[in-house]
Amino acid sequence: MRLSGKRAFLTAAAQGIGRATAEAFASEGATVIATDVNEAGLAGLPDGVESFALNVLDKDALERAVVDARADILFNCAGIVHAGTILEATDEDFDLAFSLNVKSMFRAMRAAIPGMIERGGGSIVNIASAASSIIGAPNRCVYGGSKAGIIGLTKAVAIDFVAKGVRCNAICPGTVDSPSLHERLRATGDYEGALKSFIARQPMGRIASAEEIASLAVYLASDESAFVTGQTHIIDGGWTAG
Ligand code: NAD
Repeated sequence: MRLSGKRAFLTAAAQGIGRATAEAFASEGATVIATDVNEAGLAGLPDGVESFALNVLDKDALERAVVDARADILFNCAGIVHAGTILEATDEDFDLAFSLNVKSMFRAMRAAIPGMIERGGGSIVNIASAASSIIGAPNRCVYGGSKAGIIGLTKAVAIDFVAKGVRCNAICPGTVDSPSLHERLRATGDYEGALKSFIARQPMGRIASAEEIASLAVYLASDESAFVTGQTHIIDGGWTAG
């Protein structure tokens, strides 16, 4: 098992990529601490997984939870999508996206790193996105800006702590099957049409499963990736390959 003896702390673990990753970390032998603002959604995680409600917008609760977790692996997953161009985005939309998607990861990393250094190192994995941070995607202005911010933080943290045993990588998924994806498709008013166009932009002709993203997260969390830091790991069915 690739994560035996490691402690992993995750945000947004109730569904989608976060849940699949909590399950994968547990099956690879990690001690898993899984959190989400939706406490009910954390039910049914594998035996042995510790879980509790945590809103990543709550600075004190987030920082306390991260420090208390004494994690070797920090998996920053919480994120929301604002749909629209710059002309449809308000200051409030911008502030919420950057607080939830970027500042929460900034705070979680700042809380985790001193303990990681003390204990000899650690691996941080931040969930960014391909959409409008790697490749322009329609109606993802504020979202893409926030995800690009995560990439910048990831590289900065990686380089600042490369000699202290702390690695930091970002994952940039293309479109991934998750509950919120289906909500976004329904919100367009043309579920089938929107699904078709999301599928069409990925040359493999399908969207990813959350488990495929979790597999990459296991690799980045494990010592198999010991020589890998500061990278944006794009996993997008060839969307940005051309
Ligand atoms: P999802 O959007 O279906 O679920 C997100 C989870 O985050 C939910 O369980 C929700 O309760 C939790 N959450 C929301 N606000 C929170 C808060 N304030 N504090 C704590 N938890 C909170 O899952 P997903 O689509 O797999 O998305 C997970 C991450 O992956 C996000 O950062 C998203 O931007 C990113 N991502 C998703 C896709 C995709 O196509 N699904 C693509 C690229 C990146």
